Order: sequence, then structure tokens, then C-alpha cells
Amino acid sequence: MKSKESTKDISRSGLSEGELIACHECDLLHSVKHAPGGGKALCTRCGAALYQNIPNSLERALALNLAAFMLFFMANLFPFISLKTSGRIEENLFLSGALAFYRQGMGELGLLVFLTTFLFPLLIIAGMLYILLPLRFGHRPWRMAQIFRLVRAMMPWNLVAVFMLGVLISIVKLIDLASVIPGISLYSFVGLMILSAAAHANMDHSLIWPPIKLDQTENGSGLTAAERNLIGCHTCALLVPETRLNDHGHGDCPRCGSPLHSRKPNSLTRTRAMIFSASLLFIPANVYPVMTVIQFGRGDPNTILSGAVHLIEGGMWALAMIILFASIVVPVLKLVVLSFILITVKKKSSGRARERTLLFRVTEGVGAWSMVDIYVVAILVGLVNFGTLSTIQPGIGATFFGAVVVITMFAAHSFDPRLIWDNIGRPK
Ligand SMILES: [Zn+2]
Ligand SMILES: [Zn+2]
Repeated sequence: MKSKESTKDISRSGLSEGELIACHECDLLHSVKHAPGGGKALCTRCGAALYQNIPNSLERALALNLAAFMLFFMANLFPFISLKTSGRIEENLFLSGALAFYRQGMGELGLLVFLTTFLFPLLIIAGMLYILLPLRFGHRPWRMAQIFRLVRAMMPWNLVAVFMLGVLISIVKLIDLASVIPGISLYSFVGLMILSAAAHANMDHSLIWPPIKLDQTENGSGLTAAERNLIGCHTCALLVPETRLNDHGHGDCPRCGSPLHSRKPNSLTRTRAMIFSASLLFIPANVYPVMTVIQFGRGDPNTILSGAVHLIEGGMWALAMIILFASIVVPVLKLVVLSFILITVKKKSSGRARERTLLFRVTEGVGAWSMVDIYVVAILVGLVNFGTLSTIQPGIGATFFGAVVVITMFAAHSFDPRLIWDNIGRPK
């Protein structure tokens, strides 16, 4: 592999054999070996995915993103779900849920739904196309690193899959209220969800960065990047010697220009503050109603728990379990697990680091599914508007609950799992 940057080589660069990379979860250095087509290399110490060899990755990711882009427009131009009740048919566009929140004076929830199911998914697809299209033809797009960093930051907030679960639950809840007619948009959304996931899975991120050689003379396998005085770039994964940082420990990556940090700055303090606020907000989130069903002029306010109890009374056990698991069990477990990991890091404990890293990985992954109840409320509020017959109004509990989910997601993102490993001697 040539060390000089040449625009023609960009689409075929990626990782070269023998190159050192640092695990992003435990900081251990590994030297890159040839992975067979489709093969995935895992960290020998913590089990995190290191790199993957995906044949024709750029072409695949480009095709999938293009298809997802088209489906996105179909999903937003055609009717989403129509409701038929006593001879009236009400057609709804996908965005009516977000709009309904806004009209009911709960703009903050409307914004949350709009960002996580419309704007971020759209910007992720558009951003990837902006990067992949020129790369496919051998050109590097303007400000690629900044765009890529933005796309990466938005990825955890693309919650189309969670939203689809919310749609399923809402349809079941609506069945005895009206007949539900799924629209083209709903099917497009299912396709969009699958295509976005496939586009993400088929993207080998190392391919978009040109190869670059910094002095890496000795082999550092078995040591961590920090022990070798190296810093892994969060954006392009390049290992940069600490000598390139200024006296305050700041510096930019020579390949992509991103700011370099050995560990996420103030990780423990920020995570702790967010765990604390989320725990406080969890109380009003469960005390106040998340929505009120008004039927024939009579209101029936529901908290998260009483909503689940209603479902059980109606014989919908499976649904009640999903709601209870996503809205109560997941947030509570997330807060408990993060606090536990913070305490062990603070106490410099060295036991079971691999298990603690796995626990963190799972916690970070499942957190977004708590949003499902917010989506159910959004969909029901947006759809059910039969005048005097029945309407559904959102409750203030939903706002508190939305805040809990968002803050716990931020808490997990601000924690740096490499801190778990910093107190541990390197493997023999
Ligand atoms: Zn690792
Ligand atoms: Zn970089």
C-alpha cells in the first residue's frame, strides 16, 4: 500500500496488513491481519468488533443508501395509516404524530419524534450519499471528515426501527376503536428500516480514509495505545503519537482533522450528572399520565404502569410485557448498570472487565428501545381524532419520560469504556 495520498487510490485503500489499530472499547493495540471476505476481526481482550472485510463495500453501501433515499420520500409523501370508523375515513401522513404533539402544546415531544424518525434518518442517508458518490468515482468530497463525524454522531438517534415497533403496538391498540388501513408509507417505512440497517452493516468505514504512514516502527501488539503513547482518532481510527499534541493535551488528527483525546473528556463527571438527573426525572415520568383517552366526553388518564395494566386486563399480555420491559425495566437497568460501572471505575476495580464492557455494550444498544412508548403516544394522538366520539391527548408524563430516555442515551454515549480497562495490567 502506498504511503502517499493519491486520489485514485481512495476507493481501494482501507486497512493494510500489519498496520496497528487500537480497540475503541479497551484501547488494546492489534496488528491488522488479512480477514477473508465477509470476515470480522474481534478484539482479543474485550470482544469488541475491530474491523471487517466486506467485498465491494463502497458499491454495496452506495446502492443501499440510494434505495433507502427513494423509500424515504415514498414514506413521507403517501398516506401512513388510515382509520375507518362509523363511515368516516381519516387519512394520515407519517408526520401527523409529530404535528399532533405540537398542536397539543407539547412541541418538545413533537421535535423529538421529528428528529429521530425524520430529520436524522434523512440526514444520515444524505450524508452517506454525499461521501460515497464522489468516492465511488475517485474524488474526495469537500469537508468529508466533518460530514462523516456528523453522520456518526446522528446514527444512535436514527430510531426508525423503534418507531416501527411503536406502530405495531398502536395498531393492536386501535383495532377495537376503528378499522386500521395501512398505507403505502407504512410499507415504505418497513423497507427503509431494513435498507438503512443493511447500508450500515455493509459499510467498511476504513475504506473512506486515504492510507497514511506515521512513524510506527516497533510492533505494539499486546500493549494499549495509551501505554505506547498513542491516541486513536475517534473519527478515522488513525493512531497518532502523543508528541503531536500541544502542552494542554489538545491536537488535531493529521488525517481527518478531528480533535484528538486519549479518553473522552470529563467522561465520569458527565455520565454521573446525567445518571442523577435521569433518575430524578424517572419519578414524575411514572407518576403523571402519559396520555388520556377521551371517549364519549369521559377522560381516562393513563400512566405508563396503568396503561400496561389496562393491556393485561384486555388480555394483551405480550404487548403489556413489551411496554413494561421497554419503559420500566430497560431504563431502570440502564441507570443501575451505568452507576455500577461508574462505581467500579471510581474504585479502580480490575475484576471482570470483559463482562463489564459487555454489560455496557448491551446497555448502550438497548437504551433507544425505551422510546417505543413515546412513539405509541405520538401515533395514537396523531391518529385518533374522531371529534366527540374519541380523542387521545398526550400527558405531561410523556415529556418527563422522553427526557429520561434522551438523558440516559447521552449518559451512555458520554461514558468511555476504555476507563474500565485503564486499571488493568496488560494480558500476559
Ligand atoms: Zn478491546
Ligand atoms: Zn482522524
